[in-house]
Formats: sequence, C-alpha cells, structure tokens
Amino acid sequence: MRKEVKSKIYSLALLLGAIKFNNKNSKVLYYHDVHEDGDVPETVMSTPMSLFKKHIEIIKGNGFEIVREVTKPKGQVMLTFDDGYLGVLKNRTYFEENGLKPTIFIITSRIGKPNFMSVENIKSLAKSGFIFQSHTHTHPDLNLCTAVELEDEFIKSKTLLSELLSKEVNAICFPKGFFNDQTISVARQSGYKKLYSSIPGSYLERNAFGVICRNLVQFSSPADFKNTLFGGMTIFKKRYTNQHYHE
Ligand SMILES: [Zn+2]
Repeated sequence: MRKEVKSKIYSLALLLGAIKFNNKNSKVLYYHDVHEDGDVPETVMSTPMSLFKKHIEIIKGNGFEIVREVTKPKGQVMLTFDDGYLGVLKNRTYFEENGLKPTIFIITSRIGKPNFMSVENIKSLAKSGFIFQSHTHTHPDLNLCTAVELEDEFIKSKTLLSELLSKEVNAICFPKGFFNDQTISVARQSGYKKLYSSIPGSYLERNAFGVICRNLVQFSSPADFKNTLFGGMTIFKKRYTNQHYHE
C-alpha cells in the first residue's frame, strides 16, 4: 500500500479512536530522539524540533500538565525517549527553558558509542532533572532470551546505571516493545518496579500484565498528536498487544 494512503488510514483510525475513547486520562508518550530541523539526525527515528515544539504546544494548549512522573489519573503527560541518543542532549536548552524533564531509557552497552550519550552526558542531564532508567544492557528481543539471559540484561543495566547516577534505577522499558510472562517475572525479581511497554493507552489502565502503556508519537502530525493525547491510540491496543506480547 502506498505510504500516503497508509498514513491517511492511520490518521482516520486515530480520529475515530479519539472520538470513541475521548478522554483526558494521563498518558505516557514516547519518542527516540530530537534534532534541529535541517541537521542530520542521530537516528532515523528522530523527531524534528519544529514538530516536537508543536507537540509541546498542543499538550499545554489542551490543559495537560507535563510531569516527570504521573501521579494523577487525569490531565498529566509524561515524556519518554528510548535508547539514549545524543539529540536530546544537543537540544537540552529547549527542554530546560520549558521545564521539560523527560525520562530517557538507556541501553547501557551503548553508552559513549557513536550517536549515543556518554557517561558525562548522562550525569550532566541528570543534574538538570532528566530521569534515566533502563532499556536493558544490549537491547535484545526479550522474547528470544532465556531466563538467565534476561536476568543478565536486567541486572547489568540496573547496576551500571544505578552506580553511574548514584541512585537506584527501578524502571525498565522493553526493547522493541516485546515481552512475555517470563520477561515480567524476571524483571520484577531483578528489582524493577515499573515496567514500560510500547502498547498504547492511558497510564492507569494497566493491562492484564500490569505493564505501563506508552503511546508512540515521534512522527505524529499535529492532528494525529492531538487525537493521541485524547486517547485515539487506544484503538490500536489489541493489535499492539498481539504483536508485542508473546505467551
Ligand atoms: Zn529501543
């Protein structure tokens, strides 16, 4: 199917979702990185700053509060970035000037690698209130890992990050969104209290697995973004659950 047609269908589904689920429930949004328009992005998943700024305007313009952590069932938005790319650091001024303190999920084996933040970068942003949590050590498909491999991924990244930040890291986000019952139980045994998935929905509406929903908005047009903010992506919840959760 042509890209434009696909994107029109996606937008229409989001609009229908926003009409059906129409809510101001608190939500976690996720991106991978940001870059100044015209600059070469650190990753193809990066969001141009012009679009990101528009998203922030829409959040504020619709009466949502941007928070470091969700504490209320309604009206809050938490921003998250996966992988730990350099673009957020390069654009930190915008975040700081606007009081944005997102959570960044770090792949610990990639710290200091090309396009990724270094130990110093992470420490410096943490001082400004950015939150850092785990995105495993090597970013594998967790559904293909044995229990021993899972434990290794979870504990290594937790230990490295906790030491680096001098504080306990207790949240994890699953690479590529994949998880199963074993992933959940080993993550909890490894000391993680909050498990973030890539299944869309509201913060409080935990699914059967008890994982937190997140809504991917890195390329959302202003209209798609607004519909997502009001619950539109919940329409894809079942589809994403089938894709990401393997028994
Ligand atoms: Zn990732």
